[in-house]
Amino acid sequence: MITLRPRRLRRGEVVRALVREHRIAVDQLVQPIFVAERASDAGPIEAMPGIARLTVHEAVDYAREIFALGVRSVLLFGIPAQKDAQASGSYATDGVVQQTIVALKRALPEIVVMADVCACEYTDHGHCGLLDERGNVENDATVQLLVRIARSYAGAGADVVAPSDMMDGRIGAIRAALDCDAYTGVAIMAYSAKYASAFYGPFREAAGSAPQFGDRRSYQMDPPNAREALREIALDVEQGADIVMIKPGLPYLDVVRAARDRFDVPLAVYNVSGEYAMLQGAIQRGWLDGARAVDELLTSFVRAGADIVITYFAADYARRHA
Ligand SMILES: [Zn+2]
Repeated sequence: MITLRPRRLRRGEVVRALVREHRIAVDQLVQPIFVAERASDAGPIEAMPGIARLTVHEAVDYAREIFALGVRSVLLFGIPAQKDAQASGSYATDGVVQQTIVALKRALPEIVVMADVCACEYTDHGHCGLLDERGNVENDATVQLLVRIARSYAGAGADVVAPSDMMDGRIGAIRAALDCDAYTGVAIMAYSAKYASAFYGPFREAAGSAPQFGDRRSYQMDPPNAREALREIALDVEQGADIVMIKPGLPYLDVVRAARDRFDVPLAVYNVSGEYAMLQGAIQRGWLDGARAVDELLTSFVRAGADIVITYFAADYARRHA
């Protein structure tokens, strides 16, 4: 009787590397960047140690640094100087994200600039869209606003627009508008399955985008639902999404795996601010070995089937593995 011994292939690092099933490539990581229009809004984010809100100039320097390390894609979020009910700062030609896109593409023509398309950082009420008189987010009026934002990002030179609002029908509307404007080369990364998650907390501090009343459960997905995520992804693929995304990451790895098995389009996962804060909190207290914990976390996304991992750890990972 032969004893089967899987331990043979774990005897040393070289043999372990030989049989390793999944690896993280630095160029599949995307670093989110918060850009503040006013210098006074720039600075460290308390709940996200190591991450800061940057000015446009600082964002360009930072992008240059991480590009050299191999992180060649960034996802931009803007912190405007002014907010209003119409989110008018979101589609301004000289808006903070638009300025950053122009500056980044000038400094680093090859960088992949992704820009988050949503209204919540630009509305004074903090919701992701336009409100009706009863305070509900109006779907179709919001879609028109999102189209306007996406067009202005495309005009500034974004490579990828990434609608994160969860309105119905927005992918098709944005695709049609971009094609009509001859931005046929601009890709859409859809936040297809974005859950109404508690893990967005630190981001809202970072972007100053917490809703002033109510919550986002009437548009973001209910956490217990998995089949619905696949239906949302199918709708976005039908409407022309080039990349689909699941957000957050860690609590939804089952959804990532299910999406990988069902769809052939590139699949992104967003390792969100709360996941980052959770790990950093423990790392800073010495409760976790930071390097190993981060590598294990990022590997879990790749193993679950994600092609693209959007993570606040991207630059950190690249620095350690440079
Ligand atoms: Zn939003």
